[in-house]
Amino acid sequence: MSIHIQPIKAFTDNYIWTLINENNKQAIVIDPGQAAPVIAYLEAEGLELTAIWTTHHHHDHIGGVAELQEYFPMTHVVAHSEHNVEQDQTIKDGSKVSAWGCNAQVWDIPGHTASHVAYILDIDGRKHCFCGDTLFSGGCGRVFTGTIEQLYDSFKRLNGLPLETLLYPAHEYTASNMRFGLSIEPDNTVMAQALQQATEKTEAGIPTLPVTLEHERSVNVFLRTDMLSVISGVKAQLALADDKPLTVFTALRSLKNDF
Ligand SMILES: [Zn+2]
Repeated sequence: MSIHIQPIKAFTDNYIWTLINENNKQAIVIDPGQAAPVIAYLEAEGLELTAIWTTHHHHDHIGGVAELQEYFPMTHVVAHSEHNVEQDQTIKDGSKVSAWGCNAQVWDIPGHTASHVAYILDIDGRKHCFCGDTLFSGGCGRVFTGTIEQLYDSFKRLNGLPLETLLYPAHEYTASNMRFGLSIEPDNTVMAQALQQATEKTEAGIPTLPVTLEHERSVNVFLRTDMLSVISGVKAQLALADDKPLTVFTALRSLKNDF
């Protein structure tokens, strides 16, 4: 199967991840917060939009859905019932979504919002995880309509994917997240290297994404809540009731809110 995956930039730092089937010139977009950049990209590439998948209801993820439905009447919209779009397929945890014969599994990964999902697409044995605003490279989403406990559990779930899984967050926040991570773990050399690379790429307009789960385990403090370096880095800034991973995770999220 020749699916390739391309980001379309929207707003200031959103990525609308696009699955492209070169054989039939069809495309699927994930979280189109704006229609115009999607239409411009697909027309330039001679592609037809056949599906839209949404991860959560925030405007910068669904804002372009209605216009794209009108512009491409064949478009099949896949969404959770709480995503505030007119969906053709209502999904929930465990649902399967198809992309030209490849299967994507739907996982509930709440926390940022209560009804946030991920799409985990299997292409030739490798998993590609579209994780919206739950996990960013080096960071995590803010807690809006979900809870910090849900976000922590969602991170645990994502952390159970195979190490070579490619993660596709919906925002370019890598450089600022690495700066935050280094404020907790100043001696993390992999993180320092990731910051340098992210700074260079961002200046050149090149996405830092996708990233592998293996890479995230080295650079994302929210996946490293059981590491002594992270626990002591948090304790240097905030008093902790205990060293439990959820306590450390919660403290990291609140430190990041003020970073
Ligand atoms: Zn969001």
